[in-house]
Amino acid sequence: MGTPPPPDVLLDVRDLRTYFRVMDGTVPAVDGVSFQVHRGETLGVVGESGCGKSVTALTIMRLIETPPGEIVGGEVWFNGRDILTLSSDEMLQVRGAEMAMIFQEPMTSLNPVLTIGDQIAEAVVAHKKVGHKAAWDRAIEMLQLVGIPEAQRRVKQHPHELSGGMRQRVMIALALSCDPKLLIADEPTTALDVTIQAQILELIRRVQEETGTALLLITHDLGVVAETVQRVVVMYAGKVVETGTVDEVLQDPKHPYTEGLLASIPSQGLRGTRLNVIRGSIPNPFRMPVGCRFAPRCPYAFDPCRDHEPPLEGPGDGDRRVACWLHSRPPFGIEHRPRYGTSTATALAQRTAGVAS
Ligand code: SF4
Repeated sequence: MGTPPPPDVLLDVRDLRTYFRVMDGTVPAVDGVSFQVHRGETLGVVGESGCGKSVTALTIMRLIETPPGEIVGGEVWFNGRDILTLSSDEMLQVRGAEMAMIFQEPMTSLNPVLTIGDQIAEAVVAHKKVGHKAAWDRAIEMLQLVGIPEAQRRVKQHPHELSGGMRQRVMIALALSCDPKLLIADEPTTALDVTIQAQILELIRRVQEETGTALLLITHDLGVVAETVQRVVVMYAGKVVETGTVDEVLQDPKHPYTEGLLASIPSQGLRGTRLNVIRGSIPNPFRMPVGCRFAPRCPYAFDPCRDHEPPLEGPGDGDRRVACWLHSRPPFGIEHRPRYGTSTATALAQRTAGVAS
């Protein structure tokens, strides 16, 4: 077992691997993912559908159905313990109490036959060891915290009696009811219309600030990332391809995939012009490319990319990291010097011009 992270690191995911073994073969849905979340911090995990974001979150929560899923490697240090070594009973005490999750679609996450008050109170009784009256009061308090009007009346209602935005507020209230240290939000606004999305994001931000809970926000929406998080992890095909502060990654993307994601955002100023897209689609999970997994779609791909997998590395001790040969040490025998400090376009221009190592 590895050594615990420093106390200020709440979540330390190290070389995490979750595979799914199905009839047609093995899918490496999460394949060597590493990142940290500090106490009270907000971290965004972004990438296209199918890149492994949600499987990473479910693995951290130990909610992967086995079989077909299997956590085949890595460590998940949470609050000083590697939770992959905990028993199922021990994990029950962690899940819900110390870490909680908000899912994409609240209608399928809430129990339709129980009132929302009963659902919140049930979690509070299970983890806080308090009586039903205190748990019920806590349910009302939490509904008030997330801005549900007439909480005394709403607490007795069932999920189908609430709007989509209200249900997502209830999910947030439920997740925060036991004062977790980490809140994982998996596409929390995807199922909501734009106005409600903004309200829910603002609510998550406010509640996170008030409670000091760390937030791991999973989304495909870079606009949400820009408004909500402090640091970003970009994932592609089960791997982390870039990390850094939100300003570093969004204003100066190093990885061609991040650059492509940012270029794909529609802009009012570009009305009437063709929308930029990242050509191609994510690789077949049963036949991942040997070298860089983004190579079949990358406009900058050159020979080493197809045979050698680029390491995730950066220039210093900070969190800025990128997995791309344009910015990294060359594989053995390839004449291509590190160009971390340059933009992707400049690195490409230098390579094309044949700058020697
Ligand atoms: Fe593109 Fe090569 Fe960088 Fe991969 S390693 S992103 S293929 S330039």
